[in-house]
Amino acid sequence: MLSDEELLRYSRQILLAQVDVAGQLKLKASRVLIVGLGGLGSPVAMYLAAAGVGALHLADFDRVDLSNLQRQVVHDAASIGLLKVESAAARLRAINPCVELVTCPNPLEAELMAEAVAAVDLVIDCSDNFATREAVNASCFALGRPLVSGAAIRLEGQLSVFDPRREHSPCYHCLYGHGSEADLTCSEAGVLGPVVGMLGSLQALEALKLLAGFGEPLIGRLLLVDAYTTRFRELRLKRDPECPVCKVRHA
Ligand SMILES: [Zn+2]
Repeated sequence: MLSDEELLRYSRQILLAQVDVAGQLKLKASRVLIVGLGGLGSPVAMYLAAAGVGALHLADFDRVDLSNLQRQVVHDAASIGLLKVESAAARLRAINPCVELVTCPNPLEAELMAEAVAAVDLVIDCSDNFATREAVNASCFALGRPLVSGAAIRLEGQLSVFDPRREHSPCYHCLYGHGSEADLTCSEAGVLGPVVGMLGSLQALEALKLLAGFGEPLIGRLLLVDAYTTRFRELRLKRDPECPVCKVRHA
């Protein structure tokens, strides 16, 4: 059931035939893990809180730094020095007090990663390094949780959805397991705020589609964003039949 306040708060999206009250109830019943509360995680967390996702689990062990504020818009000048999960939680509570927030300020290693992924319905990878992305992906495929993966660096971004529930879905490792420049971080290479903002917004969109059950999710497709020319391209992705991460799952 939705209260009168909820019906009003979410009225503009409930008006959409694709969402309706049924979709809103699905969002309310959903739990989402956001890994990383930086440039990507900021719009993801704010849009999902605003949209009425029932519970947001926030994972980040870092603290807010002055150099984050150019793009990590969930934080502000008063948050400098605070844990990012605490700073983000305060902002999200202010946006929508109905959303349940769970904070995890510890690195998601081994069992902690498995626990964090097992506790939710969907995972959004907003981290900034290859090792975390690989670990999040492996955990999602071991536990059967869909993963919305986004990345942005310099003036470029990439987005895809990896869904272990779908037989032909590739995983992150199929795509990047052979190594790339994926480990370059924006602290080394630089990035523009609206580029991570755009990619994070697209991640939030894919999450809402998967949770409410409408539209065509970006499964088996890789969206490439070139912010320099404002051009979007799409590549078809195939599952690597020899991939050690998703092979077991699909066997
Ligand atoms: Zn794979």
